[in-house]
Amino acid sequence: MQHIFDMIIIGGGPAGYSAALYASRAGMDCVVLEKMSPGGQMALTDVIDNYPGFEAGVDGFDLGMKMQTQAERFGAKTEYAEVTDVDFTEKIKKVRTTAGEYLSKTVVIATGANARELGLENEKEFVGRGVHYCAHCDGRFYKDKIVAVVGGGNSAVQDALYLSRLAKKVYLIHRRDTFRATKIYLSQLEKTKNVEILFNSTVAEILTDERVSGVKIKDVNTEKTENIVCDGVFVSIGRKPVTEFLKGSVKLDNGGYVLADETTKTDVAGVFAAGDVRTKALRQVVTAVADGATAVHFAEEF
Ligand code: NAP
Repeated sequence: MQHIFDMIIIGGGPAGYSAALYASRAGMDCVVLEKMSPGGQMALTDVIDNYPGFEAGVDGFDLGMKMQTQAERFGAKTEYAEVTDVDFTEKIKKVRTTAGEYLSKTVVIATGANARELGLENEKEFVGRGVHYCAHCDGRFYKDKIVAVVGGGNSAVQDALYLSRLAKKVYLIHRRDTFRATKIYLSQLEKTKNVEILFNSTVAEILTDERVSGVKIKDVNTEKTENIVCDGVFVSIGRKPVTEFLKGSVKLDNGGYVLADETTKTDVAGVFAAGDVRTKALRQVVTAVADGATAVHFAEEF
């Protein structure tokens, strides 16, 4: 007989380990299926300043490890495996992974969202050789160098501010003439002398020799192009939910996020979506951990 868990949690980020903590404390037999290492996107952030309880900020990787350890203290397990397929059509849900099949009465989808790519021809080829998606992970390679950041949301502006403290010069390239980012970051940006903002501009080409040597930017109004010399490009244009493995088993919105409200319930009874992967207004660590607890509350009710 194959083991049947009370709860399978797909993804070991803050939403996943919060669900694991609440489930294991409630005496549920649960397992977290994690592809790589705990923490999810949070683990790629060096300092998290807006998670309560850490007055001096906290390293995202460390916080991920702490969340795993805390959940495991109450009996939650972690299996390192990538989920390839699911079957939610029967009462006992099946989750297929690179390490075999798992069965469970309930499932929490907590796979988060990954960085979006620009989709330029040589972008993939130069990842790690000048093309980056995480300023906090890779910014340190650009001390006293020139970098470009692409995007106009909170992440892009935050990345530009972070990089301005390391690099000699930062270009912030945004396709419109206004930022989406919040005031607190924009007022800091105004005071930062080594960030040059290029509005109404898109990256038409990543220029390279052995590695990135610059970007060709295009003015969206005039279509004029200009080459900018830089040592690295940080793409910060939002995120893509990790939901491909669900293959139609739960309803998604147009952006690929799992349709679920504040109850975290999906359209399939016993299947919940927690954290960045679900439709929600604010994708933050605090909202992700809240989702994990909520999912367990409704899973117990189920
Ligand atoms: P976002 O808010 O969706 O912003 C994405 C930005 O990239 C937008 O400015 C968008 O331009 C631009 N963009 C999208 N596709 C593009 C393309 N193909 N080429 C060029 N530019 C493109 O994403 P985010 O900044 O990653 O933030 C995600 C969520 O996390 C948001 O809810 C954000 O508020 C939150 N967040 C919060 C904090 C914080 O409060 N500490 C920090 C980071 C993120 P348009 O503006 O023209 O659409």
